[in-house]
Amino acid sequence: MTTLKRVDVHVEGIVQGVGFRPFVYSLANRLGLAGRVRNDVNGVHIEVEGAHAGVAEFLTALERDAPALSEIERVTVVSGEPAGHSGFTIATSDPSGPHRALVSADTATCDDCLRELADPADRRHRYPFINCTNCGPRFTIVRGVPYDRPRTTMAGYGMCDDCAREYHDPGDRRFHAQPTCCPACGPRLRLRDARGVDLCGDPVSCAATLLRAGRVVAVKGLGGYHLAVTASDERAVATLRGRKHREEKPFAVMAADLTQARRLCEIDDAAAALLTSRARPIVLLPRRRDTPAARVAPSVAPAGRHLGLMLPYTPLHHLLLAELAEPIVLTSGNVSDEPIAYEDADALTRLGGIADAFLVHDRAIHTRTDDSVVRPGSGEVTVLRRARGYAPEPLALRRPAPRPVLGCGAALKSTFCLLHGRRAFVSHHLGDLENYDTLRAYAESIDHYRDLFGIRPELIAHDLHPDYLSTRHALQQTGVEHVGVQHHHAHIASCLADNGDPGPVIGVAFDGLGHGPDGTLWGGEFLRADLTGYERLGHLAQVPMPGGAAAIRQPWRMTAAYLRDERPGLDVAARNAERWPAVLQLAASGLNSPLTSSAGRLFDAVSALLGIRDTITYEGQAAIELEQRADTSETGVYAAAITTSGRSDGGPFVVEGGDLVRAAADDLAAGIDPAVIAGRFHNGVAAAISRSCVALRQATGLTAVALSGGVFQNALLLERTVQRLRAAGFRVLKHVRVPPNDGGISLGQAAVAAARDRS
Ligand code: ZN
Ligand code: ZN
Ligand code: FE
Repeated sequence: MTTLKRVDVHVEGIVQGVGFRPFVYSLANRLGLAGRVRNDVNGVHIEVEGAHAGVAEFLTALERDAPALSEIERVTVVSGEPAGHSGFTIATSDPSGPHRALVSADTATCDDCLRELADPADRRHRYPFINCTNCGPRFTIVRGVPYDRPRTTMAGYGMCDDCAREYHDPGDRRFHAQPTCCPACGPRLRLRDARGVDLCGDPVSCAATLLRAGRVVAVKGLGGYHLAVTASDERAVATLRGRKHREEKPFAVMAADLTQARRLCEIDDAAAALLTSRARPIVLLPRRRDTPAARVAPSVAPAGRHLGLMLPYTPLHHLLLAELAEPIVLTSGNVSDEPIAYEDADALTRLGGIADAFLVHDRAIHTRTDDSVVRPGSGEVTVLRRARGYAPEPLALRRPAPRPVLGCGAALKSTFCLLHGRRAFVSHHLGDLENYDTLRAYAESIDHYRDLFGIRPELIAHDLHPDYLSTRHALQQTGVEHVGVQHHHAHIASCLADNGDPGPVIGVAFDGLGHGPDGTLWGGEFLRADLTGYERLGHLAQVPMPGGAAAIRQPWRMTAAYLRDERPGLDVAARNAERWPAVLQLAASGLNSPLTSSAGRLFDAVSALLGIRDTITYEGQAAIELEQRADTSETGVYAAAITTSGRSDGGPFVVEGGDLVRAAADDLAAGIDPAVIAGRFHNGVAAAISRSCVALRQATGLTAVALSGGVFQNALLLERTVQRLRAAGFRVLKHVRVPPNDGGISLGQAAVAAARDRS
């Protein structure tokens, strides 16, 4: 007779701090069901009872209509006896036990909050810290779990009666919105001069006035301080470059909205979706050629056809950009390669000589997080820097790790990865592990993630390079198993993990440099690889790097290494005449000239040959500018010989990169436009990769190719390579969720350690 049904539902995933409990509450009420919902350390637990049909509909709608910011990983349903609940309630959190619940990433201000921000009748009109369960700060303010206000940097702010009422009202958009606040009870905005003295007037309009007058203003954001100047003001941009000691690396620009953004860049639907996504990354976009250059000062992105563009993601950005009515440069608040400043006193000290004024507030940032950078491709997105808006949300892997793993990453663009079960927590981008501040942030962040997600690694995976600080950090940890993973194997494993681990592949790992087990520097590698192991089947021909690290900073040395004295009368030799003969001699002697098969150094050689970049001021600059210069309509292709090593055991084959450099030198001597040469060179590298893979398919039977390594940040190379591989019938795996550069290494290392642990 009775048709009552009761179920216990456990929901795992990103379900805390995203409005999940109010959603469950209103769903149950709508369906006339009784019971309760609460957060626990593993996610959200629901007891619900009522009519069969109602409970069935509840379970369907639970996943179908879940809040926008939630990400359900698993729902477990157990039937039981009705307990006779009357009505539906939201119970308090249970903070006991190990922490598994997920902290969501920081999220751009939602449309509802923007409406209130602009509404003179709303009590949060123009309040720069407006947020709700659908938007606002999360990861950057979280100190611990479960995610509740006392464990965030909002702990010190008591809620006023109005805010408390909203916070406790299950029907309100701010129900249990931990960072909620208002002008009466929340953080305040201030504008200060470089000595820390408050400037009078409305901080936002004052800051806008200063920006209009060509001043540099430091702005406290979600994950750290930025430095802002008006984007069209060449003098201001040049001043900022000078003070920041940042010579040529492009600055990012923030536009008020899509309309303003469209005046600067070509924006298709995919790009618009990225720009307006809740992660609000910096999106690399082609600049419009038909608009006056005055809109963006030349010094913003000196050598680029592309511009890094983003839209406002905090209420403060919205207010400031609306006030200014024109785009601003918004670059990280630091001096050259230091980490971004995020603590107020430190920011005032470090940025005091750069910024004329500070737009600051008193909501502390717990975790320093840079802006993310993405690039839309033909249909797909490549993540170049994964940080604010994405981290710390985990990536799901196809197979679970038997024991928890920590992958320590490499040295540049470093990240780490904590792997537990099927979840890989790849950290936000931490920067180059070579200064003390970054190293400290790295070690502290590992501890923070371990605590947040309750993961105690039993395996620690690291690079084979003994001098990487990440390797040293790994080897200092005791009571754990250490797993060394070759750099380029880690790149390919990262791409495999990023693509659901489809099994053995031909791995093409093209990057700057990585430690090879034979003692040489690898970087243009063809591997047969799966997660457990790899075999080096081919590589770019080795060349000396005359002067070692000096050859990285001075790409012209690589031109000398490739061409030796075969092509007299080169412009690059004339430009560097003083040292050219000595460098030739150095390369020939082998003294302080380590051998490398690096693809990055091959791009460097051609960039310098063409007069695009003899010396660099930031990592990858020569190759980036070579790509930017290339004529993308060029269809000519340089050919590179592929030779066997001549070893009795077969040995790896060798791709003669030097053939490409010589072909470029011949065209240059014949007076061909460097843009055309750059195009033919890109096509030549893509063709050499494709032909190598065809040969490897014959030898191995493998039909899938994984592309990884920093060189594949090059959109032109990636596109041309994928085209050729697909035309040759390959299945091509590219990076999706983590960067192809060394930012993805930690995921690969962790995946390899877990796979070896399984077998
Ligand atoms: Zn909101
Ligand atoms: Zn309030
Ligand atoms: Fe690498």
